[in-house]
Amino acid sequence: MYVLAVRLTVIGSGDAFNSLGRGHSCYLLDDAGAAPVMVDFGATALAGLRRAGRSPLELGGLLVTHLHGDHVGGLPFLLIDGMYHGVRTTPLELLGPPGSAARVDLFMRTAYGGLADEPRPYETRVREIAPGERTRWLGLEVEAFAAVHMDAPDVALCLRVTTRQGRRIAFSGDTAMCDGLRAAARGADLLVAECTCLAPPCGRHCTWQDWERELPTLGARRVLFTHLSDPVRDRAAELLAAVPSQVAATFADDGMQLEL
Ligand SMILES: [Zn+2]
Repeated sequence: MYVLAVRLTVIGSGDAFNSLGRGHSCYLLDDAGAAPVMVDFGATALAGLRRAGRSPLELGGLLVTHLHGDHVGGLPFLLIDGMYHGVRTTPLELLGPPGSAARVDLFMRTAYGGLADEPRPYETRVREIAPGERTRWLGLEVEAFAAVHMDAPDVALCLRVTTRQGRRIAFSGDTAMCDGLRAAARGADLLVAECTCLAPPCGRHCTWQDWERELPTLGARRVLFTHLSDPVRDRAAELLAAVPSQVAATFADDGMQLEL
């Protein structure tokens, strides 16, 4: 597929509960001249990827913000697809928070038992990245920041990806408003920002009330709100009308594409 520069396809834009029938929040990143990668891969991701007309065999890898099922629970289906359906021969790379390697095995074992021990026709390469670290991965520069979402030993990340063309895309993952998220967002060409609720209480998630306060000083050129519950999506048009004019903001929907 010819890609002008960088294209982000929203494969899913819903919360953990698939509110209003949307898929678990995850994104396909097409960076010209490189294998596409997915950012997160929740339980509905494979179905969403196929609905977008794409094949899991195209993927170079998965970048994972945190190890909750709505962000990485689709992995067993991806792994068996490459074993039995559209047989994969190229390595599948995964870069995620500390604990990813053990959790990949656990997800696969829980979903398919002994198939976790079957040899695969492709290599599964898992690397871990901790808050404060930066690495090169599949031609991208990836920086990890501490999110506020999980209890130790689990670690949730906000991520910032710099593409070959120098586009910077930040992903909040799931988090309460925090300094890690602010640092990831600063200077980003696009911030993919979770907005689970209109207002607290919302667990360790961002709310529209947070974003109203943060948007004027965020320093991201464009913001895509995602991980949406029913009340937020129902009021999306009204909420956007209140966004300061210097911020380009949109609400995500499944299948939406953004060019950068
Ligand atoms: Zn989560």
